[in-house]
Amino acid sequence: MLNNQGRPTTPGAASVSSAPPTLSGDRGLNHEEPLLFEVGRAEVTGVDLPDVTLKADRLGGLARKRPIGLVGLSEPETMRHYVRLSQRNASIDAMFYPLGSCTMKHNARLNEKMARLPGFSDAHPLAPQSTVQGALAVLSQTATWLKTLTGMPAVALSPKAGAHGELCGILAIRAAIRARGENRTRILVPESAHGTNPATAALCGFTVEDVRANAEGRVDVEALKAKLGPDVAGVMLTNPNTCGLFERDIIEIADAVHAAGGYFYCDGANFNAIVGRVRPGDLGIDAMHINLHKTFSTPHGGGGPGAGPVVFSERLAKFAPLPLLVQDAKGFRLIEDEEEAKALGYSPFGRMCAFHGQMGMFVRALTYMYSHGRDGLRQVADDAVLNANYILASLKDVMSAPFEGPCMHEALFDDAFLKDSGVTTLDIAKALIDEGYHPMTVYFPLVVHGAMLIEPTETESKETLDRFIAVMRGLARDAKAGDIERFQSAPRLAPRRRLDETAAARKPVLRWRAPDNAAEAAE
Ligand SMILES: *Cc1c(COP(=O)(O)O)cnc(C)c1O
Repeated sequence: MLNNQGRPTTPGAASVSSAPPTLSGDRGLNHEEPLLFEVGRAEVTGVDLPDVTLKADRLGGLARKRPIGLVGLSEPETMRHYVRLSQRNASIDAMFYPLGSCTMKHNARLNEKMARLPGFSDAHPLAPQSTVQGALAVLSQTATWLKTLTGMPAVALSPKAGAHGELCGILAIRAAIRARGENRTRILVPESAHGTNPATAALCGFTVEDVRANAEGRVDVEALKAKLGPDVAGVMLTNPNTCGLFERDIIEIADAVHAAGGYFYCDGANFNAIVGRVRPGDLGIDAMHINLHKTFSTPHGGGGPGAGPVVFSERLAKFAPLPLLVQDAKGFRLIEDEEEAKALGYSPFGRMCAFHGQMGMFVRALTYMYSHGRDGLRQVADDAVLNANYILASLKDVMSAPFEGPCMHEALFDDAFLKDSGVTTLDIAKALIDEGYHPMTVYFPLVVHGAMLIEPTETESKETLDRFIAVMRGLARDAKAGDIERFQSAPRLAPRRRLDETAAARKPVLRWRAPDNAAEAAE
């Protein structure tokens, strides 16, 4: 189908209402957005550059022989394309976004303002260190806060995401084991851990072994102890775990792992649930990443950016990666050289990235920490937990909660309440899109059937939560009443109707041409 600008419409395009078609193919503020490759013309450009006549081939014959087919667009066309796409995104700035485990909290504009100060945003990673002392002071202050809040003696700031932090922690554990002249090959990962944990251990060459969860949704401590032995390098535990529960046997687990000669890695992505309340260093943890983008509110989603600093215990501190940040009479200094680090008694396992990490994320996180203060951070955790429990308590009579008792920062439901209704967890998620909400996390964690994981975060008001609760109660009621058609056809009000998610993943349509262009597209 072509609209009157000759633009092909995309398969699965929504009919947002039953109103008659328009001449343009667009519907009011709802513009159909073609791919740039479909609208671009080679002869168009946003910037006019003078013609260049190539006098000599200075690339040794590597100069381009034919155009590479970049699309040509004017500046306003480019602008509109991206602005329209951005308006079709669900975002924390536009709606309540209770995506469990992802911590989509409001990002205070103060943090953004600080991150845009030119001294931070324009600092070049190769600038002489004497010229960026302020930026290094931010790194130092961020490190101090993270060490203080966790009660751990060392931190590596450079990992760029939670999963990257896990890699950093496990590489440090591997280096420590090698330094002891040992060869430990197994890492234990409880079922209630985040999926990135086993992936990290496997990437580092370890054999991953599951430890089952008990009926309470927590690690089965006896099962874990039974698997410990002289070939176990460590345990990776997520706390609070992906069921939104605090692993209350964590000290017993730490002691058992240490007694077996292993290290205790904790996935602290969700530190927002316990910050200011519990210091991981007091729980026997050897390494833990903290997702700054979750706990300390820096914008994330859609693939980045993030920051996953890793705090280390005394036993692992010397293996932390380069660069090392030190302060001496001349000011702050980043040590980039392995020999120099060794002379100071460190044995860095290597480095995690080319430079120093995500500067903008450090500025935002530090601003967030400064503006809350130590007592305020404790209240962040308290409010996050209170909000999640408010949702759990307000919905558990109409939905089904798999575990008894209160939760931490996220409320977990399963699909038992949908039994025999014909409506699935996925249908509920899609119906929420029509209601103007980003869906909760679905089908994760895997330990419960048809999981729905709702994380409201501390930044939402009681009014927002009440409205959401009313909607969820209505959806649960309608699902049980057998209004299947409405659920199975959701979303009806989004820019796209429901996609075949398996086909979308297996055979992504990255280019669409109208049928009369098919021959050209196939070339
Ligand atoms: C989000 C999350 C991760 C991964 O963090 P990324 O920054 O997305 O790599 C790991 N573990 C847990 C428990 C998480 O919630």
